[in-house]
Amino acid sequence: MTTTPQLTLNNGVQMPAIGLGVYQTPPAETTAAVEAALRTGYRHIDTAAVYGNEREVGEGIRRSGINLSDVFIETKVWISDFGYDATLHAFDKSANKLGVDRIDLLILHQALPSRFDLTVDAYRALEQLLADGRVRAIGVSNFMREHLDDLLAKTSVVPAVNQIELHPYFRQPDVAAADAEYGIITQAWSPIGGITFYREGTHTSTLEDPTITAIAAAHGKTPAQVLLRWGLQQGRSVIPKSTRPQRIAENFQVFDFDLTADELAAIDALDTGRRGGPEPEAVTLETFGIAIPEA
Ligand code: NDP
Repeated sequence: MTTTPQLTLNNGVQMPAIGLGVYQTPPAETTAAVEAALRTGYRHIDTAAVYGNEREVGEGIRRSGINLSDVFIETKVWISDFGYDATLHAFDKSANKLGVDRIDLLILHQALPSRFDLTVDAYRALEQLLADGRVRAIGVSNFMREHLDDLLAKTSVVPAVNQIELHPYFRQPDVAAADAEYGIITQAWSPIGGITFYREGTHTSTLEDPTITAIAAAHGKTPAQVLLRWGLQQGRSVIPKSTRPQRIAENFQVFDFDLTADELAAIDALDTGRRGGPEPEAVTLETFGIAIPEA
């Protein structure tokens, strides 16, 4: 079985470079997907309170028979739980649903640009959880450079990870550069371009992009494998989602080939600068503030 290469976070904690994402994985399918991934060799699962499937992630880990301590669990605090006490309680909700005492990586799911005070309070709660040993690392998601600058001016622990939309059609090199300057690992969500599948226009899917299909053919690999390899070779963490065991396995077979510098550059050149997810400024409690149930 392939052992997963690790990335070393800025506090020395090791994180498997590839993880299984479970956004839009229905709770009824989550346990089986997580179990399939762990049996394939994955040792990192990325979920979130707002995905509504933390309980099933925990169940999948237990059913796999793999020691909990060998699995890196990452989850996210939703914006409706921002605030010092609310975020401490969000940890309890997530940990109880997952069935764990400690979470490996707990991140803020979004910045709340219109309520940055609440975002900072939420992050201070993460710092407290880290100091108390309840979490092994803390981080953020969908933070732009200005959000990182603002946060770091007001808090003391540099996030270990910034999980952002990152695939060939939206690479966010400015955010990735800010992450690198601060010593933050960039973690790519939609690493094979899942969010582009629903897009209109000439390039509807990264998986059908002629540049990517040509590179895949040259290596005897699939487009999804090329996209994951592109992320890994550029030092990113990647968290592809699938509910199908065959694809879950396919997405893990990405450690036996190398893309050339020209191939990496050709994929980089596909950037359209067009975001698939919501504009960070559009994320407000009014528009996205759904409540997270108690455990
Ligand atoms: P991905 O790039 O992982 O693509 C997922 C899509 O690709 C699904 O439709 C899946 O379908 C399909 N797929 C998976 N593997 C293959 C394959 N080998 N060949 C063909 N199709 C494939 O996009 P996601 O948007 O799901 O992002 C991945 C993860 O990132 C999420 O699960 C979540 O953990 C995280 N995320 C975080 C966000 C944030 O705001 N922080 C936002 C969005 C995602 P099927 O399941 O049917 O195989």
